[in-house]
Amino acid sequence: MKLLSHHFRSVSSSGLPMAKMDPGSNSLMWFRKGLRIHDNPALDYAAKDSKHVYPVFVIDPRYMEPDPTAFSPGSARAGLNRIRFLLESLTDLDKSLKNLGSRLLVLKGEPSEMVIHCLKEWNISKLCFEFDTEPYYQALDDKVKSYASLVGIEIFSPVSHTLFNPAEIIQKNGGTPPLSYQSFIKVAGQPFWSSSCLSTSLSCLPPPGNLGSCTISEVPSLNDLGYKESEEDERTPITGGESEALRRLSESIADKDWVANFEKPKGDPSAFLKPATTVLSPYLKFGCLSPRYFYQCIQEVQKNVKRHTSPPVSLLGQLLWRDFFYTVAFGTPNFDKMRGNRICKQIPWDSNDELLAAWRDARTGFPWIDAIMVQLRKWGWMHHLARHCVACFLTRGDLYVHWEKGRDVFERLLVDSDWAINNGNWLWLSCSSFFYQYNRIYSPISFGKKYDPNGNYIRHFLPVLKDMPKEYIYEPWCAPLSIQTKAKCIIGKDYPKPVVSHDSASKECRRRLAEAYELNKKLNGTVSEEDLKKLRRKLEEDMIQESKSKRLKQKSIG
Ligand code: FAD
Repeated sequence: MKLLSHHFRSVSSSGLPMAKMDPGSNSLMWFRKGLRIHDNPALDYAAKDSKHVYPVFVIDPRYMEPDPTAFSPGSARAGLNRIRFLLESLTDLDKSLKNLGSRLLVLKGEPSEMVIHCLKEWNISKLCFEFDTEPYYQALDDKVKSYASLVGIEIFSPVSHTLFNPAEIIQKNGGTPPLSYQSFIKVAGQPFWSSSCLSTSLSCLPPPGNLGSCTISEVPSLNDLGYKESEEDERTPITGGESEALRRLSESIADKDWVANFEKPKGDPSAFLKPATTVLSPYLKFGCLSPRYFYQCIQEVQKNVKRHTSPPVSLLGQLLWRDFFYTVAFGTPNFDKMRGNRICKQIPWDSNDELLAAWRDARTGFPWIDAIMVQLRKWGWMHHLARHCVACFLTRGDLYVHWEKGRDVFERLLVDSDWAINNGNWLWLSCSSFFYQYNRIYSPISFGKKYDPNGNYIRHFLPVLKDMPKEYIYEPWCAPLSIQTKAKCIIGKDYPKPVVSHDSASKECRRRLAEAYELNKKLNGTVSEEDLKKLRRKLEEDMIQESKSKRLKQKSIG
């Protein structure tokens, strides 16, 4: 493996002589994502020539501290499903480390402070952690790296969360990230490791040494962290950990025809008993599964079949989408915002908290949309096209609410919530970047019907509609009162009326998007807050004018 060419390594920048550091004796392996043993170059390197390896995970209150004021159980930033998934993944990692003669050392606190404390306390000479592109981790890493370099600790921070090194792709592309999938593929080429052996030969790990004054615990339970297990009727079927990731992966790739013929966006978004895709995203998010190992497994299947699909639609193509978004996110300042984001169209979105809450809490009155939002809340996972439908509905399709608001809800509730991919897809779906065909809107009524005419998905996630006849399951407000009564679901009482009329709302959205695009074109990317305010006022005036003339017309007909 040529992994060593992909890392950051530093020695003392303070001029401290390295000989004083007792080199090669104690290493600290800092786990954040990358919660796995397989294909983990940072862990391999930590184990090499070390007397003691300290495998550390820091429980970060920013993500893990309960927040009773949040709109769903969990912390301020993460819903309970994701926190549970993380704890399960840590328990699994601890078990694997114990099998290798070690254990996971869990600390709690601000991660960079905790790690720096451990570096001091344990006389560490080698610090290893997976490279992370997220701004939050970049900032943490900078703090830890500057301390480590100052005192002459060797740092090894390889790229193993993505197929490619985003920084290298950006460099190859002349300093900016490629902004289309095809140009990304062209620049990226084949990963250098694609035909090398990634499997690690770790059969044991040097044990941790003396723990000094550091407060170490076992992996905590939800209860230990101050959470109460929810008494929900349906728990997410997605459980965390490397073992489960590898089991799911082998189950997915065992069906060679399925892998060879995988074609997105084909596939049924309403399939929930047996989802149409791998459901490996949560494992990739936390690094319970190596994307490179996943890639090689797909490659292996493809080698042994006559014909297979190709990127962007193939399964391998999906992993490349992931790398595409990671690269653009890494190379775009303010990627997670509209303002100050040079690749994002400036659009005067509404900030309508009532509509946002109706969408978030599955109360839009459109069963297809609400069922998807219930699946999000209960499972923390939905099919890609289902995500398309609800994201389009909230933003450019019907409600015209800012994509950042929808992004926040996904960020909290998804188990696979991923900074680069989530923001990238919200930019896409709101026609703010990457994709600009704002006339193509998903119908909240007919889209789901194509896949699931009987509405089984809706009946499962919205049991209040379980007895609604299939003719009305996607539009229950159209059912005569006698049918609503028979189905024990009165619209407006047991289930809400639609929050908007799709036909007129989508028409209005198209009109507003057209005006916003025009403004962006005219001002060539220099749209200010004032320009957006002016456009918002103009659109409001147009609307008032339009409804006045409609009323006049009706009067004169009458
Ligand atoms: P599969 O189809 O089996 O694909 C395998 C892997 O490829 C996935 O696990 C994922 O890592 C990657 N992948 C697939 N589709 C995409 C894509 N469009 N973009 C980038 N990578 C992709 N995915 C996340 O992992 N985290 C998110 O926070 C997230 N937010 C999203 C928000 C919106 C609005 C939309 C439309 C999509 C979002 N996605 C996100 C992308 C995609 O929906 C999921 O990755 C996919 O549905 C996960 O299911 P799977 O593992 O069965 O995918």
